[in-house]
Amino acid sequence: MEPLDRSTIWPYDERGEPGEFYYSRYGNPTVAEAERRLGELDGGTALLYPSGSGATTALALALLKPGDTIALAAGCYFGTGVTFQTLERWGLRYVEFDQTGRPPADVQLVWLEAPSNPFLTMPDLEAAAAHPAAVVVDSTAATPVHLRPLEHGADFALHSATKYLAGHDDVLLGAVVCRTQEAADELRAFRTRTGIVAAADPAWLLLRGLKTLEVRVLRQTATASVIAERLAEHPAVSTVRYPGLGGLLSFDVADGDAARSVETSTRVIVNATSLGGVTSVMESRRRWEGERVPPGLLRLSVGLEEPEVLWHDLATALERAPVATVGRPA
Ligand code: PLP
Repeated sequence: MEPLDRSTIWPYDERGEPGEFYYSRYGNPTVAEAERRLGELDGGTALLYPSGSGATTALALALLKPGDTIALAAGCYFGTGVTFQTLERWGLRYVEFDQTGRPPADVQLVWLEAPSNPFLTMPDLEAAAAHPAAVVVDSTAATPVHLRPLEHGADFALHSATKYLAGHDDVLLGAVVCRTQEAADELRAFRTRTGIVAAADPAWLLLRGLKTLEVRVLRQTATASVIAERLAEHPAVSTVRYPGLGGLLSFDVADGDAARSVETSTRVIVNATSLGGVTSVMESRRRWEGERVPPGLLRLSVGLEEPEVLWHDLATALERAPVATVGRPA
């Protein structure tokens, strides 16, 4: 493994001048190495932040000013809207739009999610790239294995590295990957001044996680495809949302009680939040997102367990759930 350097200071050179690293808010060799690696994967210049939400906040504050408006993909990660709502006090606004079409005019930033969590829609990247505003793609769930947004005209790719990139449910970390060096320099200066910086330990765990990213995500995609197909045939399931890539999917059972019964009945799939780890997790999103999601919506993040073991676990839990009629073709 690459060395883990927890130092916060490094000595000046023999002339008394600072070298590449001198104080870790400005830069740290372990963080820099993880950024170099992620930058290669996404095809840009990467910057790490203490969490995905930290990356969102830092990016919005660095790019926008009071009175500016963000066009936010409807149905994207619930917390992103919550973060923007929190920033409204400082004069930022946001409007939601359907990311499968064109973003609205008169906005200063377009914020997409590929695929959206938990509705699993894919953005129209071409339509967004034709918009005059800067474009951010939160590609947490797609990962660079399936999508490199900068190659599709996006200005920034954003990740909750807490999820697939680190991949083991033991790291809280975020990242922004910039298409241009100028944008990266600006964000770096803002990050240093505001102190929204990542520490060496999570960066080192990210380096470890990235070594297996491709093999994990391809396996999770293969398993999720099988599970999505079988769920679509199941009488207790009405709607299945899966875009054909990645390990994240969602589906609906009859109602909130059925969802609670299914999520608490599995024995292999853990009833917990988050996504992107090696252990499969599933939860009703209603508990966090309220009316925004159907009461019976379950979000499943497929891990690395045997596909047949996962399906048996899910099918056994679904046996107890009532037949779902809503939205099912007759
Ligand atoms: N973006 C997406 C798509 C997410 O799913 C999440 C977390 O669930 C975040 C951003 C926020 O990341 P973090 O929890 O690392 O702050």
